Amino acid sequence: MNIEQMNGKDIVKAAIRAVAPQANRYHPRFRMWVEGDNGCGGDYCPKCIGAAVQELRKRYPENRERFSKGGGWGGDETEGPLFCARCGHILDYVLLPLGVDEELEHYESDGGLSPRFRHSPYESFQLMKVLEEYEPLSRDMDRDAVRAACGRWGRAKGIENLARRILNLEEEEKL
Ligand SMILES: [Zn+2]
Repeated sequence: MNIEQMNGKDIVKAAIRAVAPQANRYHPRFRMWVEGDNGCGGDYCPKCIGAAVQELRKRYPENRERFSKGGGWGGDETEGPLFCARCGHILDYVLLPLGVDEELEHYESDGGLSPRFRHSPYESFQLMKVLEEYEPLSRDMDRDAVRAACGRWGRAKGIENLARRILNLEEEEKL
């Protein structure tokens, strides 16, 4: 496999294949929150949401009926990875365009992408969330010149670059 000769789509596909085995070992929990906290509380995993609700009921006994469990269906769109405010476990999420940009920026910075992702389901899972956005972004790239000229194109190219670097790290590790 010569990475330099592959086109963008194949590079991203190959990177997904490289990252998937580890990423699939990581199990995100669904995002939940406390209804009635006026949106100022954090996000919680299903294991911690009960305790978070109880805490608020104890703190505001006169309003205890107000607080209940919310969310828990997964797939929430966010601008970055989500974590449980109590235990820190990563929560299921879908990246919004701005979130993809921020993740790409992170991986382009020094130390953003290190070879340790190969041994970390947690890091591979986060990489996978970025790589997965390539397909919907690139779908219209060839036939829609207007969209190709705007942010989608740059974003897709950024993901291709990330994929290329993932594959290069893979190759290095094999040597
Ligand atoms: Zn938790």
